[in-house]
Amino acid sequence: MSWERNIRKTVPYTAGEQPGKAGIIKLNTNECPYPPAPGVEKLAGQIDWNALRLYPDPNTEILVRALAEYYRVSPGKIFVGVGSDDVLAMAFMTCFNSGSPILFPDVTYSFYDVWAELYGIPYKTCPLDEEWHICPEDYAQPNGGIIFPNPNAPTGLTESPETVEKIIRANRDVVVIVDEAYVDFGGESALPLIDKYDNLLVVQTFSKSRAMAGMRIGFCIGSERLIGYLNDVKFSFNSYTMSLPAQLLGAEAVKDDAYFKGVTGKIVATRERVKGELKELGFSFPDSRANFIFASHETIPAGKIFQALREADIYVRHWDKPRIGNYLRITVGRDEEMDRLLSFLKDYVGRCSQDGEDRDEGRGSLFWYEDSSGID
Ligand code: PMP
Repeated sequence: MSWERNIRKTVPYTAGEQPGKAGIIKLNTNECPYPPAPGVEKLAGQIDWNALRLYPDPNTEILVRALAEYYRVSPGKIFVGVGSDDVLAMAFMTCFNSGSPILFPDVTYSFYDVWAELYGIPYKTCPLDEEWHICPEDYAQPNGGIIFPNPNAPTGLTESPETVEKIIRANRDVVVIVDEAYVDFGGESALPLIDKYDNLLVVQTFSKSRAMAGMRIGFCIGSERLIGYLNDVKFSFNSYTMSLPAQLLGAEAVKDDAYFKGVTGKIVATRERVKGELKELGFSFPDSRANFIFASHETIPAGKIFQALREADIYVRHWDKPRIGNYLRITVGRDEEMDRLLSFLKDYVGRCSQDGEDRDEGRGSLFWYEDSSGID
């Protein structure tokens, strides 16, 4: 047993389920329901497999150049990694070493506290307001760095460029990371602020809007000095993080902007339609600008709906956590998938209301569900 005393013990991040079952409707991990750009498939068939004998380019030049061209920044301002989780993990390790607590929202991407614990970084969470928005004043207290997603997850809400800049302006002596995993579905990027603030890091991913979650590509953009520090840490950790296919196929995906805009446009249109229909069924939700909707039903507890959906092979996400326990995070899929979800919900909500009325007889208006989320 003695060797176990020296083991680093962590409580890992709980990733969304990836059920191998065929025929399910998978709306639980915010993947893109459409395939990657057609050029990606074409190029995948042309990769020289003999080249896989060799290590890939540790500087990932092909991918960095493609991104530099697309975002009109110099290649020295870009760092890439194996999904944005890898980029964020590197950024935590590189940037948050002051000993003062880093700050992030209380309701947010649940990997942040896991990395903080892993690296022994103290942290403090700042409560979102009643409407699920960040209170910029909370980020004016002394801290060792700041991270928040914009749009936030799992709420889907965006903060205005003014709010984002206000937070950065008040924190010039620490690194501020804006996690823009979902920005392509209607958010406003902080990228225009990169040249103004050399302590800003904007992180994005190919997993959502570029339909390549399985290829694991993420990147961040920041000042050359900041990116230089990130590269130093990466090269002290694992030089060859990105496979050759990921580098080549990622660069190819960036070239097809028309496809990218088409896919994100379709997802946004589906999201807006589904919002209307969910509302009719008694759901309410923050006004998401991401590829998911964070919805709560007026009478039926989220946990029950989650289970019922699961039994019908429709997978969404539910966290049994303070503030968000009565919400479901529903990824926006294809129209036909969302139609199946909606028709199930319509039937289910109808059945539950009927049950509720039956049970209510002689018991006043008490429905069988009592809200314990403490939100609204
Ligand atoms: N940031 C946020 C806010 C996310 O929701 C996710 C997806 N789980 C990520 C980062 C990481 O995505 P990936 O590693 O696939 O790029």
